[in-house]
Amino acid sequence: MSRKTSRRHLLAASLALGFGMPSILRGGQLRQIDHTEPCMGTLFTIRAYHHDEEAGYRAIAASFARMHALDQILSDYRPGNELDLLCQRAHIEPIRVSDDLYRVLQFALNVSRQTDGAFDVTLGPVVRMWRTARKAQRLPSLEERHAARALTGWQDLAMNVRRRTVHFAKAGMQIDFGGIAKGYAADAAREVLRKYGILRSSVAAGGDVGALHPPPGETSWRVALEDGQNETATVLLRQSSVSTSGDLNQFVELDGVRYSHIVDPSTGIGLTSRRVVSVVAPTGMQCDALSTAFSVMELPRVKAFLKKNPAATTRVVSLAKASPVVWQSQGFPLARD
Ligand code: AMP
Ligand code: MG
Repeated sequence: MSRKTSRRHLLAASLALGFGMPSILRGGQLRQIDHTEPCMGTLFTIRAYHHDEEAGYRAIAASFARMHALDQILSDYRPGNELDLLCQRAHIEPIRVSDDLYRVLQFALNVSRQTDGAFDVTLGPVVRMWRTARKAQRLPSLEERHAARALTGWQDLAMNVRRRTVHFAKAGMQIDFGGIAKGYAADAAREVLRKYGILRSSVAAGGDVGALHPPPGETSWRVALEDGQNETATVLLRQSSVSTSGDLNQFVELDGVRYSHIVDPSTGIGLTSRRVVSVVAPTGMQCDALSTAFSVMELPRVKAFLKKNPAATTRVVSLAKASPVVWQSQGFPLARD
């Protein structure tokens, strides 16, 4: 990660958690412990409150170890890791995978099905093509898009629960967890913190924030949403998570059009709708996958989805016009002050 990028992410993570307060505060002897570290190509921050600072740091170190281990398994940047080996061989025979990989893939496949492929965990070949195109600052040709899209399709991926196996119907398929892995990592870190008894804590995995119980003296965690407006909105979290997806940080501008790093599966290139979507739900994995999915889906489809899945709420900010247009679903936990 470049120094510029890492500074930007550090700032984003710091703002998200409202840093700038003294590091030992309110709540009697409870100490505030903050730790930030690079993981999954961005910066992750854990904030925890505990009486024993050393015990707090031990728990945070264990949480980071867990998240780095997940990065090893789930990243599509690591030749020879579990995901890479799976994608190389799963068209030949069903491949048995680790519990973590199985769990994320099963969830991702469900979201792919429920969103009718707006979120598509098999979009790897298209995401790679689009990444190369963004770097080269040129749109891929229709042939390139067609070839990459032919290698995708969540319907072509079969999982066997009993055997814990994954099987592809065709060669060349690639799984991409870029839209879900950070949320899962934040959930896994929360689990570790809970096991260590660090209950007043939060985990910011880039734009995905998961909270356990609130800081001492507070009723919730306050998380600032990055939404491209001057007045940032703040959500209130308590044993819940929030994810934000959009084109604010990762995009390419070609001929005056801004393309997101989120790909529209129907075209094979980045979204141009200029939307920032935040989702609040019980788990980070849900939030992460749904904020990516809702970026692709038209608003009526998002509304229909939420009707069937009331555990999630969302805020959609459209930046397509001169002044932003905001839509929020009922119950979105925005701070009123
Ligand atoms: P996020 O920032 O969580 O919205 O995730 C964006 C990342 O998800 C991209 O960098 C890709 O790795 C991946 N991705 C892009 N488009 C999609 C899509 N339509 N469905 C699933 N994953 C996607
Ligand atoms: Mg996501």
